[in-house]
Amino acid sequence: MAATHRLALLTALVTAAATLTAATATAAPERAAACNGYVGLTFDDGPSGNTTRLLDALRQNGLRATMFNQGQYAAANPSLVRAQVSAGMWVGNHSYTHPHLTQLGQAQIDSEISRTQQAVAGAGGGTPKLFRPPYGETNATVKSVAARHGLTEIIWHVDSQDWNGASTDAIVQAAGRLTNGQIILMHDWSANTLAAVPRIAQGLTARGLCAGMISPQTGRAVAPG
Ligand SMILES: [Zn+2]
Repeated sequence: MAATHRLALLTALVTAAATLTAATATAAPERAAACNGYVGLTFDDGPSGNTTRLLDALRQNGLRATMFNQGQYAAANPSLVRAQVSAGMWVGNHSYTHPHLTQLGQAQIDSEISRTQQAVAGAGGGTPKLFRPPYGETNATVKSVAARHGLTEIIWHVDSQDWNGASTDAIVQAAGRLTNGQIILMHDWSANTLAAVPRIAQGLTARGLCAGMISPQTGRAVAPG
């Protein structure tokens, strides 16, 4: 074999190996890189008619997330709460009817939170440890009632603005601003958010970040425990 032919063969082999490596990384992003940090993906207002599609997308892209369910929907759709858990998600409390809690008295706040704890647990979602007040609105009374139910209040570091009509591109870009430990607000019902899931996963993998759980102790995203 002439030297030029050996060189051509070597070049072809190296190219083939590089192509194979790239193909493997694309097929299994969750195994492509170590996790240099964790972020908390959160989806509010479910479960809904969109939940099954969202869970499929998250699972297909190797992502786990925290689902802040409304108690009224958990009570109406217990099988979807179980599906969230089966898909590896964590289930949090997002009040029962999504009121402006800061405009309610202590007894009504307690009712919103305690009925949701019961609805989620009754559906098989476990007793939530995380609470997100609707609209992120809180005060001392809301905090104290949540604490009395063993709940840690979780707001967010990054707002995807999916509730405000953000495009899929904008939602992907918002997720791209997350740093280690931070939490992003998204919604169960948003079609643009559903469409963004594969690109969110790709972006996190490219930055060495993984989707983690939210620690009830620190309120920050950590490795799933
Ligand atoms: Zn909400």
